[in-house]
Amino acid sequence: MDLTRYPRMHFAHTPTKIESMKNLSRMLGGPNLWIKRDDCTGLSTGGNKTRKLEFLIGDALAQNADTVITVGATQSNHARQTAAACAKSGLKCVILLEDRTHKTDENHNFNGNVLLDKIHGAVIKRIPAEQTPLQAIESEVSGLSSAGKNVYVIPGGGSNAVGALGYANCALEITSQANETGIHFDHLVHATGSAGTQAGLVAGLTAVNNPLPVLGIGVRYPREVQEENVYSLANKTAEHLKLNQSINRESVVANCDYVGPGYGLPAEGTVEAIHLVAQKEGILLDPVYSGKGMAGLIDLVRNNYFEPNQNILFLHTGGSAALFGYLDVFTQ
Ligand SMILES: *Cc1c(COP(=O)(O)O)cnc(C)c1O
Repeated sequence: MDLTRYPRMHFAHTPTKIESMKNLSRMLGGPNLWIKRDDCTGLSTGGNKTRKLEFLIGDALAQNADTVITVGATQSNHARQTAAACAKSGLKCVILLEDRTHKTDENHNFNGNVLLDKIHGAVIKRIPAEQTPLQAIESEVSGLSSAGKNVYVIPGGGSNAVGALGYANCALEITSQANETGIHFDHLVHATGSAGTQAGLVAGLTAVNNPLPVLGIGVRYPREVQEENVYSLANKTAEHLKLNQSINRESVVANCDYVGPGYGLPAEGTVEAIHLVAQKEGILLDPVYSGKGMAGLIDLVRNNYFEPNQNILFLHTGGSAALFGYLDVFTQ
């Protein structure tokens, strides 16, 4: 897998560490739990969007863009990392925020990621209720284009075949880390949303012939929809990578039993997982993504989904900046 063919910036502190979660493993009496620290990618408190943005911003600069537009939910980690990547690359950044949670409190709407978007100098606009995110992007693009700007649009979550290259690269990184340490990982588990992370991982693992099973824990859609989104993007990513191999449908697996009340609304298990990992491992998860991913992992361990001697790798995709947008959940 040759990634030097694609324009790229270097933002991420990589390789990110793989650490043992000994205390959590012991407490659960389950398999050996490991955590890959993609929450520590270095760009504006880190997270999984940084790897995607290396290729997306590389592509934007190769196309001589001067302005980047992207979309996300109010507490979007993708928006925050895009704002930071644009700041570092000298690009103007316009962020269109979609109200998916209908939370009206001040912290949700102005603290956490929204505060950081602003500090990074992004222009923040709220998508009106009567507009879809796609319509909002179209009208913003046409306004900026007629003002003479060269606009580059990054889809929600940075999830297209260009962004997913970042996680194809991460698949290569995990494979090398396993080979170097001699630890055989039996499963890779992570939170899946806009699908680019899982699609990139599946395409990258296919490319390097690593049979490591990936399990995405859904945060928004039902399983059929999520798996279809991942499968479709994994195939586009494989095409973009010019793999002469198609993606095996069976390699795309999502479990969407831990979404709880909906996107951006933590379930009881989410809050428990955040407290457990903070208090057993000193690691911060988030209420929208990694907390739900970890809640899924913990529940699967409790239900003996894994063998006791297996090594399970959790990919920590970041998101802790959003905790400050959810004070109500943790101060009740
Ligand atoms: C965006 C995000 C995810 C989901 O990644 P996708 O590529 O959108 O599926 C998981 N965790 C965090 C913290 C995120 O910000």
